[in-house]
Amino acid sequence: MKTGIITSNAYQYHDTGPGHPEQIARVSVIIDKLKQYSNKNILWKKPSIISEGIIKDTHDASYVNLVKNSFPAKGFSSLDGDTIISPGSKRATFDAAGSIISAIDGVQNREFKNAFCSVRPPGHHCSQNKAAGFCILNNVAIGAKYLLNKYKYKKIAIVDFDVHHGNGTQDIFYDNKNVLFISTHQYPYYPGTGSDKEKGKFNNICNIPLPAGTNSEEYLNAFEFALNKLKKFQPEFILISAGFDGHKADPLAQLKLDTNDYYEITRRIMETSKNFSNGKVVSILEGGYDLQALQDSAKRHVDALIEFN
Ligand SMILES: [Zn+2]
Repeated sequence: MKTGIITSNAYQYHDTGPGHPEQIARVSVIIDKLKQYSNKNILWKKPSIISEGIIKDTHDASYVNLVKNSFPAKGFSSLDGDTIISPGSKRATFDAAGSIISAIDGVQNREFKNAFCSVRPPGHHCSQNKAAGFCILNNVAIGAKYLLNKYKYKKIAIVDFDVHHGNGTQDIFYDNKNVLFISTHQYPYYPGTGSDKEKGKFNNICNIPLPAGTNSEEYLNAFEFALNKLKKFQPEFILISAGFDGHKADPLAQLKLDTNDYYEITRRIMETSKNFSNGKVVSILEGGYDLQALQDSAKRHVDALIEFN
């Protein structure tokens, strides 16, 4: 089958201001690389128009209304200290969330076997009612709720390999036994959460904190713990919060992963997914702030998705 790549030109208009690391070029460099690659197993698809009802399955109605009304007609505004928005951010925000819906429907309808959503703003720091860390809606959480509500799955796993802890996703699913959340991240570090003592009400949260300086071998050894947890849970569908800011070139953090580690991490997730979720995997972009490392790592991530499609 094929691997779906879900993206939109709306991200070009989500201007976060001069010098902001979560910049417009992040998505365009990935898309350029994948277009150049022109693999016949890639199927390009646009985001779905997401309904407010689907967003409100994850976020408080009052928060959704606040977000909707916060986009400025010109210039810049902010939803928290580092979450900057501009007029074009509205469509980007809703397209990013609509991407995971489009990707899930594509997998369910067998348009493609698995998918990667190249989007911004990212999502995993956003909780039910609070924007944070460049994130406005929690895209991956919206995807997980959609799988539970629309497709009636009972066991969804979210694997978050972004270098920062996915605190918003953890908050949203802390007491939800249908969702296993696994996060590897630099710790202690932004946003401060993510200790291995935060386990969730149903032992459904699995944090794997890693010290600054962790290298490829150490990371991949630690990742085996995540895979064992995944195998025990036997998920019916796997979502990936794919942040590439654990790369050694990334300016925002201090893990020391290589470009090819993102192939290896993804390959191991896919190998596991073959046994439990019949290869049903949807991945969505979170962080990654060195443009070259981001572009190359995302390509290796997609290589592994294609290998299993
Ligand atoms: Zn990050």
